[in-house]
Amino acid sequence: MVKSLDYRDGFIGDQLVSCYLHKGSIPDAQKLFDEMPHKDSVSWNSLVSGFSKRGELGTCLSVFSRMRSEMALELNELTVISVISACASAKARDEGNYLHCCAVKLGMELEVKVVNALINMYGKFGCVDSAFKLFWAMPEQNMVSWNSMVAVWTQNGIPNEAVNYFNMMRVNGLFPDEATMVSLLQACENLHLGRLVETMHGVIFTCGLNENITIATTLLNLYSKLGNLSVSLKVFAEIRKPDKVAFTAMLAGYAMHGRGKEAIEFFERSVREGVEPDHVTFTHLLSACSHSGLVREGKYYFQIMSEVYKVQAQLDHYSCMVDLLGRYGLLNDAHQLIKNMTLEPNSGVWGALLGACRVHRNINIGKEAAENLIALNPSDPRNYIMLSNIYSAAGLWSDASKVRALMKTKVLTRNPGYSFIEHGNKIHRFVVDDYSHPDSDKIHKKLEETMRRIQEIGFVSETESILHDVDVEVKTDMINKHSEKIALAYGLLVCNAHKPLVIIKNLRICRDCHNTAKFVSLIEKRTIIIRDSKRFHHFSDGLCSCSDYW
Ligand SMILES: [Zn+2]
Ligand SMILES: [Zn+2]
Repeated sequence: MVKSLDYRDGFIGDQLVSCYLHKGSIPDAQKLFDEMPHKDSVSWNSLVSGFSKRGELGTCLSVFSRMRSEMALELNELTVISVISACASAKARDEGNYLHCCAVKLGMELEVKVVNALINMYGKFGCVDSAFKLFWAMPEQNMVSWNSMVAVWTQNGIPNEAVNYFNMMRVNGLFPDEATMVSLLQACENLHLGRLVETMHGVIFTCGLNENITIATTLLNLYSKLGNLSVSLKVFAEIRKPDKVAFTAMLAGYAMHGRGKEAIEFFERSVREGVEPDHVTFTHLLSACSHSGLVREGKYYFQIMSEVYKVQAQLDHYSCMVDLLGRYGLLNDAHQLIKNMTLEPNSGVWGALLGACRVHRNINIGKEAAENLIALNPSDPRNYIMLSNIYSAAGLWSDASKVRALMKTKVLTRNPGYSFIEHGNKIHRFVVDDYSHPDSDKIHKKLEETMRRIQEIGFVSETESILHDVDVEVKTDMINKHSEKIALAYGLLVCNAHKPLVIIKNLRICRDCHNTAKFVSLIEKRTIIIRDSKRFHHFSDGLCSCSDYW
């Protein structure tokens, strides 16, 4: 066919240009394009959009200006949209503003598709105001315009506006589609509002989007992140033909909640159903083994990962294995595993080892791990504190204070601890020793009363945990006023007694607060779920799902 026809001409030529660009044969594409006897706007567009899709902004722009000067034909909106999206992906602000001007000069400022592309571009640049103005100046917004605005608010960390725009969109008689829901669920995640997710779940049903696998996967992921693994399972069960992404999301849920045995069963099921595991699958599986203390199983899967599934061990897998071995006190094995690594260990790997040394009080290995961590990230206060705690626990007070002094000279910023809890469609956020809440008096009274009650049945405040605390939010007399304790007291006051109390903490929970939650779950006979920076803790009947290792 190629020989019998002049392939450079017309439609075939345009298709070939796109094809070459798609495959990355840029010189071929350009040569063919230059040889084309009759270049029309379609040919030019193939070239521009090909470069745009490849993310080659420079080339894209030079073709665009050649087109403006050489071409007698008018530029059409497709060309402009291609270049705008290239600017958006490259986050090239100056070029983006230039394109906006071109669009105005070409009289395209009211073309819906062009404006949508501009809104999307300004959203990526973080210029929410510009996106906002363009949106409201449109004579008529279509579905894509609304979706773009919902995405702009979500991407720029203003999730409540995303929800507002969604509501306005519904008032305007539009039904959400996949793109709307994916952005919106992302906004719900940032808002940490479980109730809102339930509402969105209802909307998903009413709009018949529950069959959509991308939405279902996002939703189940969200439920497990917000502490509701059982609903995640239901959402998963309703997916008619779960794909690898859905399986992986569900496995991640099991891992996050420390449900090791179920994670393994689920993994085996996915393999039986023909899903080929990859490195992400194994990261979740190994992390599930580690969170449940399944040493034998973890070792087995780590081995077959490369031998059977040909997945090479990466840094995340090593972190999980070090955590797994370390948790069981197999510190020498964990240390040996790091020494035998072909990759350069990162802070995740050393951090797992240091965490284990803290729990099992191993000074020599702990010191090595902390030194490596400090070398990798000298401005992170946690490593200095952990090292100092290891020294203090061993009675090496002068070494401990040297480390603290070193920290003061090196560390610039400290991350303050806070906890939040959802009530009445609102998020209530607390910091240490917080009296800012309108119900503050009641909350602190409840906290004091609860602490007294748990002390009566044997709770002992752990002064040691101050030494071991990594949260930095502590002063000795502040331990009873940690943010998670205040959030817990608030939850006891206001939340439905038949539902689990869900608290989210930005840092690692300290041993004293962990113990408090265990005792409170016992006396109040309720489930308390605390998500800290490490994992989920499910407290009930005086025990925690992490078996006191996190
Ligand atoms: Zn605490
Ligand atoms: Zn726990």
